[in-house]
Amino acid sequence: MKKVPFITKEQVEKIAQTFPTPFHIYDEKGIRKNAEAVQKAFSWNPGFREYFAVKATPNPVLISILNEYGIGTDCSSMTELMMSEALGLSGEQIMFSSNDTPAREYVYADKIGATINLDDITHIEYLEKALGGRLPKIISCRYNPGGVFTMSNGIMDNPGDAKYGMTTEQIFEAYKILKEKGVEKFGIHAFLASNTVTNEYYPKLAGQLFELAVKIKEDTGVSLSFINLSGGVGIPYTEDAEPNDIAIIGDLVRQQYEKILIPAGMGDVAIFTEMGRFMMAPYGGLVTRAIHEKHTHKEYIGVDACAVNLMRPAMYGAYHHITVLGKEDAAKDHTYDVTGSLCENNDKFAIDRQLPEIEMGDYLFIHDAGAHGFAMGYSYNGKLKSAELLLQENGEAKLIRRAENPMDYFATLDVLPVYEKLSAEMETVKQITIADL
Ligand SMILES: *Cc1c(COP(=O)(O)O)cnc(C)c1O
Repeated sequence: MKKVPFITKEQVEKIAQTFPTPFHIYDEKGIRKNAEAVQKAFSWNPGFREYFAVKATPNPVLISILNEYGIGTDCSSMTELMMSEALGLSGEQIMFSSNDTPAREYVYADKIGATINLDDITHIEYLEKALGGRLPKIISCRYNPGGVFTMSNGIMDNPGDAKYGMTTEQIFEAYKILKEKGVEKFGIHAFLASNTVTNEYYPKLAGQLFELAVKIKEDTGVSLSFINLSGGVGIPYTEDAEPNDIAIIGDLVRQQYEKILIPAGMGDVAIFTEMGRFMMAPYGGLVTRAIHEKHTHKEYIGVDACAVNLMRPAMYGAYHHITVLGKEDAAKDHTYDVTGSLCENNDKFAIDRQLPEIEMGDYLFIHDAGAHGFAMGYSYNGKLKSAELLLQENGEAKLIRRAENPMDYFATLDVLPVYEKLSAEMETVKQITIADL
């Protein structure tokens, strides 16, 4: 499907007068429409809840928008739990699906009433000790059947190689132990394939988990209250792939539910999801400006963003579509490597990409950066994180996270005498004015 930015060159020119590039921008209208579609797709299940995977896009304003639709949060760390609590989410709206979890985080999760999803059978004892000899009333267990996960179109993932979850044997054992120890409500969770661009993933996973839930009930007497399909619903990063249809996915999951759970007398099980990418990726873009062109062994366009702002291409060789704003319909008759400024040769947003001729000052819109984009950033080379903006429904951009400045980078050095000198240097840096290049 053709990728069209949700913002025009004229809008970006205006925004950039207030908020210099690079910046991440999110499309409020798109986020809302999709959130509504997700809720509708699973409305057949009375207990349904999507828990947005905070790690994908940890911005309080975006999380609050989702929360208006009843969407909660899936947290992987203390800071994500803190953010959920600070936003006023209730305990039942917070899922804690972490792994290799430190005791302090378990204690805090329990304190705010989040549902704890145990990654391993040994965590039962660890959690019990951390909580001073008791367990929460509600516990979820993460499942990993091992082997490979295949689908009819060949897409597969390799759970047998993944560090997450308990084996089949362990999960039965875990529910028995938890029941003995007085836990009252149980759930199961599995995340077996990532970025699946097919409507088949959730239904297939659901079928597998529903059958397991029936067996768990038969073998252990534990009747699961919720089944968490977790994340993994993907989006098409390339123009030749078709987007998933969440309405179809929801309906196919319903068919599995009616086929497997209802006949087993388990028609009251709630379906949970923890989508990150599907909720946000297409509704965020990284806007950057061409600042250098270089003609050496290849043709390079240097932009003012770098892998610190969007790491997926450097980390996974991931494709992100690029539109040169204002040249949407121009012929793509140039071949470029689009690079950032890190001293790392993998700092390239595109390699051998066919694009229209790029002139210095052109704005590039890097698509599908709304999830695992800004969030994955790091600070190598002393580079700073950009601002995040929300393109509101009225067409105005609102700042939802300011850009870092050098003092943010130096903030943790405040224990050293050099910090004062850095603060003084910051004043010098603030004085710099640049010509319009
Ligand atoms: C990362 C993650 C998600 C979200 O995954 P997406 O691919 O973004 O949907 C959900 N649950 C858990 C436990 C995760 O680690």
